[in-house]
Amino acid sequence: MSIKGFDERLARERRARLQAERLLAQRSEELYSANKKLAEHAHALSHTVIAQREENAALIGRSTRTQAALEVATEKAVIAERRLWDALSAVEDGFAIFDRDWRLVVANPAWMGAFDGVVDVAPGASYEAILRIAVEEGLIDLQGEDADDWVDRMIARWEGASIAQTDIRLFNGIYVRLIDKRTPQGDMVSLSLDITDTIRREGELERARDRAEAATRAKSAFLANMSHEIRTPMNGVVAMAGLMREMNLTEDQRLYAETIQNSGEALLAIINDILDYSKIDAGKMILHEESFDLRHLIDEIFRLMRPGLEGKDLRLILDYDMFLPARLIGDPGRVRQILTNLIGNAVKFTESGHVTVRAVGVPDPKQPALLPVRIVVEDTGIGIAPEMQSHIFGEFNQVEAQATRRFDGTGLGLAITRQLVALMGGEIWLESRLGVGSSFGLSLVFGCDPAGLVETAPAIALAAPPKRMLHVLAAEDNKTNQLVFRAMLKSIDLHLELVENGALCLESYHRARPDLILTDISMPEMDGLALARAVRAHEGEFYLPRLPIIAMTAHAMESDRTRILAAGIDECLTKPLDKTQLLAAIGRYAPPEGAMVAGLRVASG
Ligand code: ADP
Repeated sequence: MSIKGFDERLARERRARLQAERLLAQRSEELYSANKKLAEHAHALSHTVIAQREENAALIGRSTRTQAALEVATEKAVIAERRLWDALSAVEDGFAIFDRDWRLVVANPAWMGAFDGVVDVAPGASYEAILRIAVEEGLIDLQGEDADDWVDRMIARWEGASIAQTDIRLFNGIYVRLIDKRTPQGDMVSLSLDITDTIRREGELERARDRAEAATRAKSAFLANMSHEIRTPMNGVVAMAGLMREMNLTEDQRLYAETIQNSGEALLAIINDILDYSKIDAGKMILHEESFDLRHLIDEIFRLMRPGLEGKDLRLILDYDMFLPARLIGDPGRVRQILTNLIGNAVKFTESGHVTVRAVGVPDPKQPALLPVRIVVEDTGIGIAPEMQSHIFGEFNQVEAQATRRFDGTGLGLAITRQLVALMGGEIWLESRLGVGSSFGLSLVFGCDPAGLVETAPAIALAAPPKRMLHVLAAEDNKTNQLVFRAMLKSIDLHLELVENGALCLESYHRARPDLILTDISMPEMDGLALARAVRAHEGEFYLPRLPIIAMTAHAMESDRTRILAAGIDECLTKPLDKTQLLAAIGRYAPPEGAMVAGLRVASG
């Protein structure tokens, strides 16, 4: 090989070596950078692994704690359930749970015990099956109810939205109260409580209350009898004092007689109150319904009140609904008593102004046979303080304290009024302002008297009362006297009812009140005096207006006259009778409308 060839070869190899060295350096650089990246990645990865490991360790710790807590909770739940069940097992009351299909889920021993070990009563049994078992095994005292009806009733009870508690009696006399509640999930929780003791105590209380009420009634009845017995001699005292005042007396004697009469009358008023109150309390007050004229009745009360107006600047006003029928059906005696008390109080507690009575009919088209009536007694008197208003309808209550009392009264008036109104099925209320006045309202329901459905035309009606036949009831035992009597009244157009003694006369009087009674004094069975006393007592008791009684007697002595008048007789005619005197006496006492028909001279004034 030439040198030139050799150099060229060397240069070629050098170039190749240089190129290889450059390539190596480049590869080394690449390898280094890859290595560096790998190292960085490994570093990052090791960080992640460490974090993950730490997290895992934390999780493992937490899970261990949770596991421990779960164990504790489970243990507690088991204890709680056991305690609850122990408690439910220990109680004497029955407890059971039914599912939404009304099948027994669980029941405590007390509940199960009621079924006395019947095997079919067990979890899974249906409510209806259990009810039927209870009936068939004779566990329930059905107290006359049909078994199927009872089961149906008990099922229907559970079907309702809210289940009312119910009491049942078991065969052994034990009373059980069933209380059932539906849970939001639809289960039924059923409690059965033994209420035998409660029922027994209630029974004892009821019997004690009945005994107490019977005792009160007996006391009231005794009080009623006593008052009645006291009233009869008191009537005598008052009547005799009245007669005495008409005698020729010195001024002192007249004063004494007046005092006896006034005190007697005051005492009679009190006795009447006590009598009424105890009668109502004893349940002995009976209403006597009849047709009556309410307007006329109020007019009469106004007339009675006149003496109370003396010395006062007080007007009595009646505002009577012109569409209110003239005649109503009710107990006029008791209506009179109620209104006399309210109007009497209004007059008593009012010095000036007015006492107005308003009566309005409030017909109900659905009940045309009944007529609700509203009566208001309004005054411009002293009024009643608000705090006293609820008390005054109570017994023995008066607004003023005993020491400062200015007004008389038993404090029973409004209590009786309230009771009478209640007895009539009505209501009473009060509105009052101290120093301004009071207004007592009444709502009562009366019957409509078809005969009196005419509207009242007040002014004309008062001026010209409707004519009607006079009804005279006479008692005379002697046949000849009867003949004479009939003959004397023959020419007169009246309805004469002649009976043979006082007892028959009293019977007729009760059957249909006449306009006038004429009576002999000495008669068998009941004499004229006893008859008059009985009539007056009845009037007093039922607040009836005084019926004129004329005696016909051969006893002409002054002392007899006194005795006769003291018995409540208005006038005494001496036998043998004189026709003119007889007719004049009838004319004097007969109501004008009847006297006119009879052709008698009407008494003036
Ligand atoms: P009394 O028979 O004593 O009057 P009441 O029961 O009738 O009893 O009345 C009870 C009390 O109610 C009266 O004593 C009086 O204080 C009060 N009172 C009743 N009516 C009125 C009235 N119209 N104005 C003021 N006070 C009245």
